[in-house]
Amino acid sequence: MTVRADVAELLHAGYGDRTIARRLGVTAASVTAARATLGLPPGRAGHKPAGSPEDLFWRRTKPVDGGHLEWTGHRTNKGVAAIKWQGTAYTAGRIAYRIRYGEDPVGHTHAPCGYDGCVAPAHVEDSKVVTRKGRPGAGRKANADRGQIVALLLDGHTDDAIRRELRVDAKRIAVIRREEDIARAPRPVVTFAEKWAAHTVPADGGHVAWTGRRRENTPSLVYRGREYSARRAAFEEHYGREPVGNVLPGCGWEPCVRPDHLEDRTIRQALSTQLASIFGTGAAA
Ligand SMILES: [Zn+2]
Ligand SMILES: [Zn+2]
Repeated sequence: MTVRADVAELLHAGYGDRTIARRLGVTAASVTAARATLGLPPGRAGHKPAGSPEDLFWRRTKPVDGGHLEWTGHRTNKGVAAIKWQGTAYTAGRIAYRIRYGEDPVGHTHAPCGYDGCVAPAHVEDSKVVTRKGRPGAGRKANADRGQIVALLLDGHTDDAIRRELRVDAKRIAVIRREEDIARAPRPVVTFAEKWAAHTVPADGGHVAWTGRRRENTPSLVYRGREYSARRAAFEEHYGREPVGNVLPGCGWEPCVRPDHLEDRTIRQALSTQLASIFGTGAAA
């Protein structure tokens, strides 16, 4: 299945399936399936205590058409949407604001979107906002951090690169990416052949030499996040199966890594059987 970029982001950011489902208006089952597709560990089953006021906030909301968010949680006796987390009460507006801007609001919060009771972080402002033309939030008081994050996002950096560069929370970056509707930078897809070509040179006699890294003197390469012996990886790619036993160049040139010069034990045994049937003697295996 194809995993929606926003679902993937929130999964990578560590949110639970139900939280993501509520936040993005998709089914929890689809989020669980996406998690499996991405090979991420399953979300903890059953009730999980909220890890932060922000977590709890998302659990108490329901997305509705137009990108608005309804509050399904507790209200104070004055009708204010609120949560209590680890003994401290927060208004939903305050948490929404913190999700949006990464800092506490000044004065009261409100959602100028016009949807009654909306708590969507992307719609929430505090009473200090100076509204100007442009996209929501453009006229807000200075928040260099958000601006920096947005600039790097627009520049195509990955969430992880931004997190490391600006030392900001990964969840916050994911939220800002979503609010600003900036697509995740596509991870460059490197094929095995490209990777291989980058680390090899043709050698005399039709052999191929390894120019890449070595691990304990064995040509080594990292492909799809795993470290392989370069010969084993090349063998697997060339023959479409995992090698049995050691993979060695059968061409007689000891440094050779050319895929079709490589032999595993199965091939060596088959060759020696052929030789034995031709010459009627045992050949070296
Ligand atoms: Zn709204
Ligand atoms: Zn060779």
